[in-house]
Amino acid sequence: MMPLFRRGAHGTDPPARPAPSEPLPPLMPFAPPPVMPSLSPSVARFPATEGDLACRARDCSNHTGVLCHYVDRRGRRCDTAWCPNHWATVGGIVYCRRHAGTIAAIGYFDHPSGMPDVDNRAPSLVNWVGRDLDAFVAATLVQSATQGETFVREPVVSTHADRSGGRRYERGWKLVDHTGLRLVVAVFVVEGEETTIRVRVGSGVVAEGVPPWIERHRRGIEVTEETDRSQRALFYAFLQKHIVAAVRANRAVDQTLQQR
Ligand SMILES: [Zn+2]
Ligand SMILES: [Zn+2]
Repeated sequence: MMPLFRRGAHGTDPPARPAPSEPLPPLMPFAPPPVMPSLSPSVARFPATEGDLACRARDCSNHTGVLCHYVDRRGRRCDTAWCPNHWATVGGIVYCRRHAGTIAAIGYFDHPSGMPDVDNRAPSLVNWVGRDLDAFVAATLVQSATQGETFVREPVVSTHADRSGGRRYERGWKLVDHTGLRLVVAVFVVEGEETTIRVRVGSGVVAEGVPPWIERHRRGIEVTEETDRSQRALFYAFLQKHIVAAVRANRAVDQTLQQR
C-alpha cells in the first residue's frame, strides 16, 4: 500500500520542531489555591416591572408606571415613569423608549467611562442613521475591496474622546488586511452638536447635516408620512453620494501609491 503522506515528498519539510524526547520543563511546586476575597457577593435583583406612578405617555391614564432605570455617568437618573404598555426593555431592564434606544446603540455592558448623559440623544441618533446606511455602506466597501482585504462592521456605537474636548459617538465600517486598517467609513455625532450627523471616510469628514426629522422636531413642524419619507430619502441620498465619491477617491490614492 502507498502511504497517504510521505515526509519530504515535495521537498518542503516544515521547520524542525523540538523532538518529543526533549526533557519536559520541571514541574512547578504545588501552590495552594488563592484565597478568595471575602466580599459579600453583590446579588443582581430583578427590578420591578410594575409600580404606582402615573405613566408619562400621552393619552395614557395608567398608574402602573415604574421609573426608567437609566443612570448616566454623573449618576443622574431618568425621572420618567412608564406603564407596561409604554416602557421598553433591554437586557431584562425597564427603560423609557429613548433610553432603551441609547442602551441598544452602545450595548448594555459596563462602559468604563460611564453612560452618556441622561439628556443626550447622540448615541441613538448615530445608531439609527448607521442602521439605515448599513446595507449601502457595506455593499460600497465590499465592492471596492482589493485582494486580501476583509470587510468589518462595528456592531454598536462606540464612544471616543473628541479633539474638541467632548465625546464623540461613532459607528463604523472598515476594510482591513493583514497590515491593519485600510479604509474606514463612519457616521458620528460630537457632544455639543448633538443634532448634526457627520460622515468620515478615511481621515476626512466628507459630509454633514441635521437630519430633516430632527430639524422638524426642533421647529415643531408636522408633515405627512409621505413628506417624511421623501425627506429622509433625500438626506440619505445626499450622504450616500458623498460616501461613494470619497471611497472611490481613497481607493484611487491607494492604487497610485501601490503602483509606485
Ligand atoms: Zn402608559
Ligand atoms: Zn429614560
